[in-house]
Amino acid sequence: MVTCSKCQSDKVRPIGPDYSDFIIYRCSDCGRDSIIWRAKTHSLDSFPAQFWCILGVECVRHSNTPPQSIEQALWQMSGDDWTKMVESLFANTYQLSSTVGVEQIMDIIKKTNTCTNLDFPVEVWINKDFKIKVYK
Ligand SMILES: [Zn+2]
Repeated sequence: MVTCSKCQSDKVRPIGPDYSDFIIYRCSDCGRDSIIWRAKTHSLDSFPAQFWCILGVECVRHSNTPPQSIEQALWQMSGDDWTKMVESLFANTYQLSSTVGVEQIMDIIKKTNTCTNLDFPVEVWINKDFKIKVYK
């Protein structure tokens, strides 16, 4: 949520043009203008193949260690999170979450091709609402 940098009011609205890197908000309580920087995102192009899938992942699928690949992070999602994600991604097709596989979600991640940061842990976007973390 955006709040005023002077009085912390949430009665702020964007003014002026929509710049790609930032937006200027004006507070209707105190009149202060605040610059809100947009989060910059990155593509996944610079990561090696292991970032997507680690060989021998079969034995670590259900491990409690932090996931070291996108595939592993998907296998480790809780059933509730998986269901919510599938319902969001396939909202128009009424696909059952049990019929959607990790490979399908990996294809969606390839198309989204977005992460929040390049340092580990890397936050990988499935879509704008669902993100997973990959650890070193
Ligand atoms: Zn204010």
